[in-house]
Amino acid sequence: MLVLVAGALLDRGRPALDAVRPESISATVRFLSDDLLEGRGTGTRAHAIAEKYVATRMQALGLRPAGEAGYLQQVKLCETRAQGQLIVDGAEVKDVLVAGDCGAPDRTVEGELAFAGYGQAGELPELRGKIAMVLAGAPASLPSTQRALASSNEDKLKRLRAAGAVAEVVLTTPELEARRPWALLQRNFVNGQAYDADDLPPLPVAYLDLGESDRLRQRPGSRARLHLTQTSRSFESGNVIGLLPGDSPETIVYSAHLDHLGICAPGTRDPICNGAIDNATGIAEVLEIARGFAALPKRERSVLFIAVTGEERGLLGSAWFVRHPTVKRERMIANLNLDQLLPAYPVGELVLRGAELSTLEDHVRAAAAELELAIVPDPVPEQNFFARSDQLNFARIGVPSACLWQGFSGPRGEAAFKDFRSNRYHQPGDEWLPAYDWEAAAQMARAELLVGISLLSGPRPRWKPQSPFR
Ligand SMILES: [Zn+2]
Repeated sequence: MLVLVAGALLDRGRPALDAVRPESISATVRFLSDDLLEGRGTGTRAHAIAEKYVATRMQALGLRPAGEAGYLQQVKLCETRAQGQLIVDGAEVKDVLVAGDCGAPDRTVEGELAFAGYGQAGELPELRGKIAMVLAGAPASLPSTQRALASSNEDKLKRLRAAGAVAEVVLTTPELEARRPWALLQRNFVNGQAYDADDLPPLPVAYLDLGESDRLRQRPGSRARLHLTQTSRSFESGNVIGLLPGDSPETIVYSAHLDHLGICAPGTRDPICNGAIDNATGIAEVLEIARGFAALPKRERSVLFIAVTGEERGLLGSAWFVRHPTVKRERMIANLNLDQLLPAYPVGELVLRGAELSTLEDHVRAAAAELELAIVPDPVPEQNFFARSDQLNFARIGVPSACLWQGFSGPRGEAAFKDFRSNRYHQPGDEWLPAYDWEAAAQMARAELLVGISLLSGPRPRWKPQSPFR
């Protein structure tokens, strides 16, 4: 299905595309990633300042408040700091990280260790009363998006619980160690874990480093005991939501996460993870896309813009929004989520990341063709990106969603991407840099905008038969 004849979409979108201002994207990123914003940790005062900033920007762009109190929707969360031990056949396992669950402050579970593969349906052994050892991630044989979905530990926990397991031990694989070194996981545990207060994990979870994973995997049938102590607190953080009404209440939803890691390296010279790329860029793009839609003389459908909190703590703000939507669920026709634009090289291609699961793909292809962008397969499927950002929660409630990505767009982009992942991603160095190319950011904003303009009229996107969300 071609949505509009060639050229027509571009003509229709021209006033919106012309409204996109690269310097505005740069300025938004620069403000949100300033040290004064202290890395926008979920639930911090700095995050609340960022919420107010986005709300006032939405107001200035003419968006209607679409939260629960003006533009804001408060998300109720629980944070826990846990310590734990794993004892196997009487000996304490050394390199283990135990996640809290906001449950009882002190408890012990015991059981026999059982190997449960990747924790997928159909491969679970009898687990009644057992501690399940589960490989992190999902089989490499699956296509990119399916593999990303299958890697969700939340889903694995539900299956393990249903199969009778009493705890989960996550085994690190060499592939995971390469992508997420143990030191990075340790850093993620520094500020504890956070959960949606209404959706706490069903089982305690312990993570093993690569060495211990290899060792314990060989020892199913051993007696294991997991001891967990934790201190928990309730807190709130805000989603920011604005609406541009159209003729129809059917709504296209753009989202991006506003939060980042906050003070991530306490006691060091530069303790702040500023989150310029991750994800001030996404917020800046969403605001520019809103400016574009506001410039259109006519909108058949409505467009909602959401800055969500708690993404870095486990997609918590978007999970809350889809459970407490401020627009009726059946009115949301598509979600386009923006996470981590890297404005370091001209954009020549797009990776679908979820769009291929629904007829959203046709709209992306139409927009890409108009803007002369190639559609390419995901060059880094092992990153499991589809399951790692907020579009997943929209897909889970049946809204066709995608997190389009600029790909490598050539060797220069590949080098820039690799440099970012190893030297700045989730580190204090993810800052606004003078060398960044904001015209590249504007290119991505125009692409996302044109996809949305294509969605303003015509049939609603629907899942394809092979989609796991049908
Ligand atoms: Zn992140």
